[in-house]
Amino acid sequence: MADVTKFLDGIEDFQQQHFGDNSELANTLIDGQKPQALLIGCCDSRVDPAVLLNCDLGDLFILRNIANLVPPYLNNDDYHGVSSSLEYAVCHLEVSDIIILGHSECGGIEALMESTDKGDLGEFIGKWVNIAASARDKVLADLPEAPPDKQARACEKEAILVSLKNLMTFPWIKERVAKGQLSLHGWYYNIKTGQLCYYNQLTGEFEILVSRYSPVDRTKSENTA
Ligand SMILES: [Zn+2]
Repeated sequence: MADVTKFLDGIEDFQQQHFGDNSELANTLIDGQKPQALLIGCCDSRVDPAVLLNCDLGDLFILRNIANLVPPYLNNDDYHGVSSSLEYAVCHLEVSDIIILGHSECGGIEALMESTDKGDLGEFIGKWVNIAASARDKVLADLPEAPPDKQARACEKEAILVSLKNLMTFPWIKERVAKGQLSLHGWYYNIKTGQLCYYNQLTGEFEILVSRYSPVDRTKSENTA
């Protein structure tokens, strides 16, 4: 068995930091959570959202899956991990923001780009990443001669837009966005540079995040589409 001492040291440090004399944060959290945002990120160990954004406990309601994808709304008897997380964050915690946090060098997206059949990627992964199949198809149509790594970087960004679009298929998300109660954001983190970009709906581009920006207004894009 691998040595897990690093993790045990970590929880000791954490306990001393938050549960010793300095227990203000723990006392605050015991009454319940009121996170501002739901963040949907990738499972990739290199892109832990709370670490990247330097957040405290209670700041973010986080959902992580392969390639930070949101499937479209589907009300049936399957097990809906993503949809139940969305429902809890939006309808019960009433978060004001949903952030899709994509990233460079995403193994899930690279697998999507390289696979020719859903079955290539095992029992579950192929079907899952095919949520972003339209992103792959768009990249292959737009950049047919580009090298694979450039296509993958483009697909990582296009897949964020697919997830933003799919968020709007959930009726209680669409309703809140229309009322101005909920804002959607598409962010892209570059593992090599540490740079964070956001999707600017006005330009249709991912741009370097500076101090201020406007969240994605999907109702506006739907109306003008
Ligand atoms: Zn990833």
